Amino acid sequence: MFFDDEEDFEGEDRLVKSTKGEYDAEENVLRPKTLDGYVGQTKVKENLKVYMAAAKARGEVLEHVLLYGAPGLGKTTLAHIISGEMGGQLKMTSAPAIERSGDLAAILTNLNDGDVLFIDEIHRLNHSVEEILYSAMEDYALDIIVGKGPSARNIRFSLKKFTLLGATTRAGMIANPLRDRFGIICRLEMYTPDELKEIVLRSARTLGIAIDAEAAAEVARRSRGTPRIANRLLKRVRDFSTIKGNASVTVGDAKFALGKMEIDGLGLDEVDRSLLRAMIDKFDGKPVGLETLAATINEDAGTIEDVYEPYLLQLGFIARTPRGRMILRGGYEHLGYKMSEKQREQVSMFDKDLKD
Ligand code: ADP
Repeated sequence: MFFDDEEDFEGEDRLVKSTKGEYDAEENVLRPKTLDGYVGQTKVKENLKVYMAAAKARGEVLEHVLLYGAPGLGKTTLAHIISGEMGGQLKMTSAPAIERSGDLAAILTNLNDGDVLFIDEIHRLNHSVEEILYSAMEDYALDIIVGKGPSARNIRFSLKKFTLLGATTRAGMIANPLRDRFGIICRLEMYTPDELKEIVLRSARTLGIAIDAEAAAEVARRSRGTPRIANRLLKRVRDFSTIKGNASVTVGDAKFALGKMEIDGLGLDEVDRSLLRAMIDKFDGKPVGLETLAATINEDAGTIEDVYEPYLLQLGFIARTPRGRMILRGGYEHLGYKMSEKQREQVSMFDKDLKD
């Protein structure tokens, strides 16, 4: 039921995909162990520091924490850091692995005081499992109904005081009663190129890779705001450099390698580009529903929403409109398309730059 950290949750693999894949075997080695080593996310770090210090000063366990943000932004890493700093054991599982309420009851009754239970993809818990969690989170108690019909009785078991860390890529999909039971909610943002450069240099040191600062900046720029992708690209760029016999990865090596991997200057790969192209070629730039778009490029709608969209939205290349997804001016320009009058008109309602 518990999963191993290196496990691959998605089948098909893609270099700039932000979910875990076969390239990420060294992920644990690369995780910073302390909040001070955790790059970026300043607001989240500052708040967590206060909450953890206050809980420790009062001799209490940390309140339950909900972490949300796109895959690869550092939720699991934060879970390790929090449990390390609070001194409890970290138990990891994911919502799809908890099929029945009995599975969750078994996990909960095995926790000790101060332990941290990390549930990944918490928005995917099924309803009966989620209900068990309510009293566990609120009263550290497990309510079990024994028997059926008129003779059914409610038995309450007390649990040890633990901290639940829920991670999700879709905060909007968490039911209110569950969300309300988290005392602390942290939203992870995409990283800036400077922060990613720091992460690339840090990972290079850990892995013993010599890399020029300029090359690290090039990798950072193409990492879609995501540390997991930065680490993955660093390793692939190193491979190209090794084959060339260079002692240190140069910016030339980085550009060459990223070009070979068909990752463009902004970190988009062929899948992103085909998604953008489909929005123009197949739908003439009109808003298109997520499911329709997914079927057109033969991709899963959930993957588009979790993996492709966040970065394209961040770049301002697409918008979510009431009538569906729509490509904006930046998207046309990046692909080298010239907009027709009609397309300009369509876009102007959603693109700030085109309004006046
Ligand atoms: P998530 O759980 O959000 O999918 P992870 O915590 O597994 O993401 O992070 C993926 C990789 O990115 C880890 O190997 C970690 O080393 C790196 N990483 C994530 N956030 C940071 C950070 N703030 N500073 C340095 N490295 C990070």
